[in-house]
Amino acid sequence: MNLILLGAPGAGKGSQAVNLKERYGIPHISTGDAFRSNIAKGTEIGLYAKSFIDKGLLVPDEVVVGIVDARLKEPDCEKGFILDGFPRTVNQAQALDKITAVDLVIDFKVDRATVINRLSGRRSCSCGGTFHISKLDSEYCPVCGKKLYIRDDDKPEVIEERLKVYEETTAPVADYYRAQGKLFEVDATRELDEVYRDIVEKLG
Ligand code: ADP
Ligand code: ZN
Repeated sequence: MNLILLGAPGAGKGSQAVNLKERYGIPHISTGDAFRSNIAKGTEIGLYAKSFIDKGLLVPDEVVVGIVDARLKEPDCEKGFILDGFPRTVNQAQALDKITAVDLVIDFKVDRATVINRLSGRRSCSCGGTFHISKLDSEYCPVCGKKLYIRDDDKPEVIEERLKVYEETTAPVADYYRAQGKLFEVDATRELDEVYRDIVEKLG
């Protein structure tokens, strides 16, 4: 099962991916996580990507497509995968179509106010966990105990820019897949378990 999670920043793609990965036994591939891990390790790709990410801009297509192409060729992707944060441009979607066949694209629909609230209250952990400040009772990760941090791109000025990029560049990706009859829209303003139920109902 080759799945894509599409939607604005803060729509909850990463949170759903954690559960879907368990249920279907397929890897969760997040291009944002891949860049953050490269940045943490100080690789050349990480250094290059950081200059875009910190401004809320997209990393150039060639770089992202190269990373995804290599990752999808790994043996654990044979049974399928969950792509989160890719494709983010129509050009990336076309490149992906040349690499492999996509089965379903889940489009997480959220309004702007919800996104701003979620991102500005988001606390992240190096284990990959993300939490909303309203649901935390300490500054430590409820999953692994490490200290939580605020992503540089979750600061207000950068959030605005990311939303603009999403609306102008990524939203058209939904139309691309709708035209292929592969788009499944979910109302992602609801609680995580309600969104999860809808997805599982669709996937079986
Ligand atoms: P979000 O919370 O916005 O969904 P991600 O963790 O998916 O964030 O991505 C963080 C940043 O990494 C993006 O704002 C962008 O700069 C870069 N990035 C991630 N995926 C892609 C992609 N497919 N194409 C270009 N840039 C990407
Ligand atoms: Zn953690």
